[in-house]
Amino acid sequence: MTDLQEAVSFHGHLCPMFYLGVRMGGLALKKLDRARERGVKLHAVVEFANCFGDGIQYVTGATFGKNNLHLADRGKFAASFYDLSSGKNLRLRMKKDIVEKVLEYGRAGRDVKRLPPAEREEETRRLMAMGREMVERLKGLSDEELFEVTDAPGFTPPEGPSLDYVVCPGCGEVTLKEYAEKGLCGSCG
Ligand SMILES: [Zn+2]
Ligand SMILES: [Zn+2]
Repeated sequence: MTDLQEAVSFHGHLCPMFYLGVRMGGLALKKLDRARERGVKLHAVVEFANCFGDGIQYVTGATFGKNNLHLADRGKFAASFYDLSSGKNLRLRMKKDIVEKVLEYGRAGRDVKRLPPAEREEETRRLMAMGREMVERLKGLSDEELFEVTDAPGFTPPEGPSLDYVVCPGCGEVTLKEYAEKGLCGSCG
């Protein structure tokens, strides 16, 4: 089991969505019967850019920098996992009642951010305590109570660009060839 404290130091705070991402990533590894990815064989496609994506990233080792963590922005609390070494894959989605509760918390957080600074500090403390309580409650739930397993949609791992480059005559910056049009980079072209 992942050291939650260490995971939290990666994300920056302990919130329910992050915790759910940690659990989701852990369940994916368990179902795929594999350990955390060090290379690029495990791909994860997250359906919304949110705290839970960080939990998935931390636990599974699919990262933005290795180009094996992807965003298919659908506004859903779900993610698909593809193990290229075994050919196994699956999609996990948070159960409706779980999402509803955690979104309620998220909306409370949004409201706190809108408060005048004088009131914000105390409300933020209250909110963080609420979040920690919610995480404690989630800890008591089984994977089956948190997530539903469905079939993963088709997926082709993106082929990375060649590492050929041009030096943009506009700004003098090294730019990968595929990104330069008529020799100019995206900022100059
Ligand atoms: Zn968070
Ligand atoms: Zn340029």
